[in-house]
Amino acid sequence: MRCSGLQTWILAVFAGVFLAGLPASAQQCKPTQSFDGWLETFKREALAAGISRRAIAAGLDGVAYDQSIVNKDRAQGVFAQSFLQFSGRMVAPYRIQGGAQRIQRNRAIFSRIENDFGVPAAVIVAFWGLETDFGANSGNSPTIRSLATLAYDCRRPDLFREQLMAALKILDKGDLNPSEMVGAWAGELGQTQFLPSHYLEYGVDYDRDGKVDLRNSDADVLASSANLLKAHGWQRGQPWIQEVLVPSELPWEQADLTIQHARSKWVGWGVKSATERPLIADNTPCSLLLPMGRNGPAFLAYQNFQAYTQWNQSLVYATTAAYFATRLAGAPAYNKGRGQVPAYGLPEVRELQQLLNRQGYNAGEPDGKLGVQTRAGIRQAQLKYRLPADGYPSDELFSSLRGR
Ligand code: CA
Repeated sequence: MRCSGLQTWILAVFAGVFLAGLPASAQQCKPTQSFDGWLETFKREALAAGISRRAIAAGLDGVAYDQSIVNKDRAQGVFAQSFLQFSGRMVAPYRIQGGAQRIQRNRAIFSRIENDFGVPAAVIVAFWGLETDFGANSGNSPTIRSLATLAYDCRRPDLFREQLMAALKILDKGDLNPSEMVGAWAGELGQTQFLPSHYLEYGVDYDRDGKVDLRNSDADVLASSANLLKAHGWQRGQPWIQEVLVPSELPWEQADLTIQHARSKWVGWGVKSATERPLIADNTPCSLLLPMGRNGPAFLAYQNFQAYTQWNQSLVYATTAAYFATRLAGAPAYNKGRGQVPAYGLPEVRELQQLLNRQGYNAGEPDGKLGVQTRAGIRQAQLKYRLPADGYPSDELFSSLRGR
């Protein structure tokens, strides 16, 4: 029970992230024609795009609009957990253990994958565990119905039209048959929840049975995930994140993923390794990543971390996946940081975003999530109010902003 409940929640989280950033104007819109009329037009477009009549009929004949998908799509904003909450829940001991077992069990295949794509087992297995508990929960929603519903809906038709077209191409190629086109409610497929367009572009038939099967073939799932990470810029043999300890004073405004310094500079500012492996004071470029500000857990983020933020835009998700991979690669649990780190929920973050925007600090759409843009807005306000500019909210910041 725990797993299935958690899984529903996980899928809700990812779909929410995938759909983030919707303009307010799109939220009240209404479709301009009937679903059936729209579907006939789409079928003609699919034919013109080179998809076979057979695949169009197999995928789209009798497909119905599903209001529950649109309702889920409109109930966005589920993902407002802090890094400590989310990673504490997701990087649970049973999942670390499960990941370690799968690395052992698939040793030969991971060695081939690392050789072919440059991505280590721990990195792939962390995504595999977070996305679907290693394939245990890939989702039960009919993919074509979800994508057709969302492509017909007026909020993000172009995005979902592209994914629907890709799903039909997957059918046409024969990688999946119509009964296998089942996954997350917003259309992601397989054990690492690929968008259909990624499935087509980066899917690898690694077991060489003639089909890219991201539902049932572990070899295909793992190699395709490595291939997607490589496409996101993963560099062979390079680190992704490393836990560090930060001093009590530092130019905190430098702790920003868009700012990189030589590792020696961070060492010079008093950043230390959190593990027995010392921090080498060399020229390797890296950013200081403080998911919960200067008093929370701290990491150096290397170039490869950008493959995580491309996999999922949510900084909390990306940091959690990267941290999970360090655990699978043998690193100890993180230090929770100094003292109490307040976690701000969705209503508080939304209020903060409104306060910041009203006073001319661009915090982005008030969605209640602490994304990159909101953190940049916070940092500007902190500099203005002479608070430590770590880009994380504090009660002092709230008071300063409300006091105006
Ligand atoms: Ca295959």
